[in-house]
Amino acid sequence: MSADLSTAAGSIFNMFNNADIKFPTIKDETGQEVELTKGRYGRYMESSDRQVRQQAFTALYNTYDKFKNTLASTLAASVKRDIFYARARKYPSALEAALDQDNISPEVYEQLINTVHDKLDYMYRYMKLRKKMLGLEELHMYDLYTPLVSDYRVEVPYQQAQEKVRAGLKPLGDEYLALLKAGMESGWIDVYENEGKTSGAYSWGTFDTHPYVLMNYDNKLDDVFTLAHELGHSLHSYYSNKNQPFIYSQYPIFLAEVASTVNESLLIDYLLENSSNRQEKIYLINHYLEQFRGTVYRQTMFAEFEKIIHEKVEAGGGLIPDELCRIYRELNALYFGPEVVIDQEIEVEWSRIPHFYSAFYVYKYATGFSAATAIKEQILKEGEPAVVRYLEFLKSGNSDYPLNLLKRAGVDLTTPQPVEQALDYFGKLLDQMEALL
Ligand SMILES: [Zn+2]
Repeated sequence: MSADLSTAAGSIFNMFNNADIKFPTIKDETGQEVELTKGRYGRYMESSDRQVRQQAFTALYNTYDKFKNTLASTLAASVKRDIFYARARKYPSALEAALDQDNISPEVYEQLINTVHDKLDYMYRYMKLRKKMLGLEELHMYDLYTPLVSDYRVEVPYQQAQEKVRAGLKPLGDEYLALLKAGMESGWIDVYENEGKTSGAYSWGTFDTHPYVLMNYDNKLDDVFTLAHELGHSLHSYYSNKNQPFIYSQYPIFLAEVASTVNESLLIDYLLENSSNRQEKIYLINHYLEQFRGTVYRQTMFAEFEKIIHEKVEAGGGLIPDELCRIYRELNALYFGPEVVIDQEIEVEWSRIPHFYSAFYVYKYATGFSAATAIKEQILKEGEPAVVRYLEFLKSGNSDYPLNLLKRAGVDLTTPQPVEQALDYFGKLLDQMEALL
């Protein structure tokens, strides 16, 4: 009976955020007036035209700012929902209630935040490097997504992409490669864009079929990573479906991005190793650095925000917009550091993040990415024994709690080590980038 009430906050937010909100027009790169939409926002943030980025940024956040009282109320209602269920089920906190689903202790969550805090220097270094490479006096929040090498574009026909992926994943052994080849050659993959076909990419399948991959392959280097990524999901599903009974075959969200990330990072390492083109190297490192920033740092910042606002309400406090803005601004200042101008507009970003309505979920992106980086490092350093452990992991589906399954793969997330190891790798990428300049 409480379900309809408890999902109200999220559905009101979704209606507002997906249907009703309208943004003003801005001038695009050609000087044309265009209506800003959420879809276009991402593209404008990557524009090499700074005017366009700044306009889009200001227009987006000024619009959310006008609704911040409403959006603070919907977010507060969602937080109260989490606390209601936690208390009704006698959990000490909303955080513990949420993590219990995966049998994970709050210490793991807190440790992630603390480890990332300890390694914020890397992030500050990255921001300094970004400022230098973009040749800017001041690095603003709207300068964070534009590529460091905007003019690099290489054509990679699909045939070559398959070869690159197979070469990059060679360390995973003959059996894995044979499956990959079989998948590529026997119609698992719907490769190109087509009339009426949905956009994006994903891997899907059922327990008793082989996996299927949908792509919109467009000869870009990014598409090669997408191919490796989706095949990572596919082979994880393939191995788990083959080796587990139906009930344990579906790997949980906590583990869902591990196999895809292992593949992507093996591929990047291989391409970096085998490239003699400076521009290409910069492009690859930039791609990888951005993944770290978006997946580990950004999601951990979100995770910390969720923790703070839940604790506030649990302690009897309220969530008025000014307070949410203050918390959010301070977190941005902490995570981006002294090299970035924290534009005032960013303080309302909390009001547009759909994930906050499913609290204590995004940290899984950060732990998953870190675990995958640690596994990749082990595979490259140890070889065979690490590969055997990893294949066992791929076969294990949902047959135990996620941390136990990862432990058997050689990654113990109850210690800070995997996240440290991953972030130190981020540091190594920074070294490489600095050496190329
Ligand atoms: Zn994925």
